[in-house]
Amino acid sequence: MKSLLIPFLAVATTAFAAQPKIEMSPFGSVKGHPADLYQLTNEKGAKVAITNYGGIVTQLLIPDRNGKLGDVVLGYDDVDGYVKKTPYFGALIGRYGNRIAKGQFELDGKKYQLPVNDGPNSLHGGKVGFDKVMWNARPYFSKDGPALELTYLSRDGEQGYPGNLSVTATYTLTNNNELKVAFKATTDKPTVVNLTHHSYFNLAGQGKGDILGHVVTIPADRFTPVDATLIPTGELRPVAGTPFDFRKPHTIGERVTANDAQIKLGPGYDHNWVFRKPVGMLTKQARVVEPKTGRVMEVLSTEPGLQFYSGNFLDGTITGKGGAVYRLRNGFCMEPQHFPDSPNHPKFPSTVLLPGETYKNTIIYRFSTE
Ligand code: BGC
Repeated sequence: MKSLLIPFLAVATTAFAAQPKIEMSPFGSVKGHPADLYQLTNEKGAKVAITNYGGIVTQLLIPDRNGKLGDVVLGYDDVDGYVKKTPYFGALIGRYGNRIAKGQFELDGKKYQLPVNDGPNSLHGGKVGFDKVMWNARPYFSKDGPALELTYLSRDGEQGYPGNLSVTATYTLTNNNELKVAFKATTDKPTVVNLTHHSYFNLAGQGKGDILGHVVTIPADRFTPVDATLIPTGELRPVAGTPFDFRKPHTIGERVTANDAQIKLGPGYDHNWVFRKPVGMLTKQARVVEPKTGRVMEVLSTEPGLQFYSGNFLDGTITGKGGAVYRLRNGFCMEPQHFPDSPNHPKFPSTVLLPGETYKNTIIYRFSTE
């Protein structure tokens, strides 16, 4: 396969550091539009591959405690897989990440109806969310590491949302082994925005079985309980004494099938944790350790919430990269975001974006070993 190497002019490199690289190769086509794959390599040799279709992270190669690279995200080998059937593997999610009850909300006295695509609700931006559109891509070398800037103009009325929304999502694979996603958006009419990233991680390596042995810490003391359709009831409930208390480390498997009414609704973890901090402040929201490989992932973000989803709907019907069959809980998502259904909960932090304002959201997945 032909690939194009984008040269990097080194300013200063340390003795053992590899040269950061960006390689571009074809990744198939979607309705006649070519999809490209950009592979970013940082100074430490970690790699991420991202396609302009949906801004999807298709591969993330991270060292284990012996320095051996492993692909820690689920996905497909070519773009067709993502087009045919995907539970949002690796994608950019918008215009509204997570659920809006019955696909309805009101803004400035006007009622909006979004397409409903998850039982009675609208999930992840509707039928054709930001995960299913072609983004414009611009690769470049930032001071922190190789980067890919993706831009997309979501038209007024697209998927039922008001306002032309101009979105930039910039991925950087920092030389510190972080995958950073920085979002910015502006609008020309009042609208609602909630953007996030949807990689399914398995720190043992994709296709290496379930994630039940991963050890999770989430420093939040409340979560948003949900109804039977996974819409928040509005309550901010203390995690103390529940399977949602991850303030001390617990394996995912320990309580994922606990006899608990909220766990039964998932079934498993598919909930939003609530952080006490000013919106916009970058803080740590999760730490996940995979004991066998020693891989550690920390999640930092500027968002007030974190959706931790334990891959409850993976059911063995998807065959992904290298023929791997993705069974129940073979991957998990950590999605920093505003709370689900915020447009219908005036007490939740607001997701309204007005003309003249700039929406900003930074998510960092930081990798190390122990
Ligand atoms: C949601 C799950 C949903 C999944 C789709 C997650 O963000 O919380 O409920 O099933 O995305 O793959």
